[in-house]
Amino acid sequence: MNDNFKNQKVLVRVDFNVPLTDNNEVSDNTRILKALPTLNYILNQGASLILMSHLGRPLRKLDDNGNIQRDKFSLKNIIPELEKLLGRPVEFASDCIGVEAKQKAKALKNGQVLLLENLRFHKEETEGDEEFAKKLADLGTYYVFNAFGTAHRKHASTYTIAKFFDKSHKDLGLLVREELKNANKLLDDPKRPFTSIIGGAKVSDKIKLLDKLIQTSDNILIGGGMSYTFVKALGGEIGLSLFEADYVKTAMDILEKAKANNVNIYLPEDSTISNKFSNNGEVKVVKSTEIPDEWMGLDIGPKAIMQYCDIISKSKSIMWNGPLGVFELEKFSKGTFQVAKEIAKATSQGAFSLIGGGDSVSAINKSGLADQVSFISTGGGAMLKYFENKTLPCIEAILGDD
Ligand code: AMP
Repeated sequence: MNDNFKNQKVLVRVDFNVPLTDNNEVSDNTRILKALPTLNYILNQGASLILMSHLGRPLRKLDDNGNIQRDKFSLKNIIPELEKLLGRPVEFASDCIGVEAKQKAKALKNGQVLLLENLRFHKEETEGDEEFAKKLADLGTYYVFNAFGTAHRKHASTYTIAKFFDKSHKDLGLLVREELKNANKLLDDPKRPFTSIIGGAKVSDKIKLLDKLIQTSDNILIGGGMSYTFVKALGGEIGLSLFEADYVKTAMDILEKAKANNVNIYLPEDSTISNKFSNNGEVKVVKSTEIPDEWMGLDIGPKAIMQYCDIISKSKSIMWNGPLGVFELEKFSKGTFQVAKEIAKATSQGAFSLIGGGDSVSAINKSGLADQVSFISTGGGAMLKYFENKTLPCIEAILGDD
C-alpha cells in the first residue's frame, strides 16, 4: 500500500455488511476484523479516516408503509464493536452525504475516525450515480478501496468515486491486495497438480469459471446440483435431480474442451439420493447415471468421495467453490465435509488451498477447519469474477493502466 497518508482525510470503502442479532448487535465481527489492518495502517501514518459501507439491502426490505427500516439497517449498530476493535472513539454521521457529513468530515483531526450512515439508504449508490459519488468524494482527500466482496459491482462508492481522485490519491487496501495475491497464486503459476473442485446448484452460474479453469487446472472435480446436467448430457438418467435443459450443449462443450486441453474432468460416479428434498425422505446410494424417476441426487456418493479425496490428497494447489451436495441437510452433507477435511489434510502436507467464497466458506466454517486451509476469500461473487477475467471493475478504477 502507499505510504503518503499523512495529514490526509482518507475515505475508505469498507465492507461492514455484518450480521446483526434481533437486538441489532454485531453477531459476527469477521468483516470488521478483516478491515482492521488497513485502518490501523492508515491511522498510524497520521491521517484521519472516513469510513463508508453498505449494510444489508434496506431499499428492498421496506416496512409496511414503504419506509426504510432505519434502525435495523443503521451502521450506528456496529459502532460499539468498531470502537472496541479500533481502540478509539468513532464519530457518526446520520446520512452519508449532506451538511452533517460535510461538517463532521471537515472537523476531523489526524487519528480521528468518522463512520458514515449506510450508503444503500440512497438508491444512487447501487446505480453508480456520478453526482452522488462526487458528494462522497468531496468528503475526503484520499480514497482507499478495501471492500473486496463488492469489487465486481460498479456502485457509486466502489467504482464511480475513484474517478474523482488522481493516481497518487487513491489506493487498494490490504484486504483487497491479500485477495488478489492469493488468487494470483493459482492463476499465474500454480504448483502442480492443480485441482479445482466446483460444486453448487447451477451450471449456469459457473460456466465462465469452468471455462477459465479448463485453461489452468490439471483436474476438475464436479459435484453438487450442477453435476446432473453433465450426467444427463452424457445420456444418464437423473430422475428429479437439478437439471438445466438450456445448458446441455454448454456442458458437452466443457467436457470436450477439457479433453482437448488434457484436463481430467470428473463427474461423481455415484450419488446419495432421496425421494424428498429434506432429511425426512428415504435415502439410498446409486450410480449417478441411474437415478430412478421421482428421486433426486442430493450429494456425491461414497465412491465419488473416495475418488475425489484421493485426487485432492495428491494435489499441490487446490481451489474450491461450491458445496458438493445439499450440505445444509445433515444426511447430504458428507461429500462436502469429507472434501473439506481432505483439503485441510492436503494443506497440512504443503498444498496451497483457496476457498473461493460463498457456501464453501460456510461449509469450511461449519466443519471447524477454517484455520487449516491456506486462504478463505471474503468475496464469493467477486472471487468468481476475478478468476473469470483476472481483473475487476473496482480494481481497474484504482490501478488504471498500471
Ligand atoms: P452455489 O451458490 O451455486 O454455490 O450453490 C449452493 C447451493 O447449492 C447450496 O445451497 C446447496 O444446498 C445447493 N446444492 C448443492 N448440491 C445440490 C444438489 N445435488 N441438489 C440441489 N441443490 C444442491
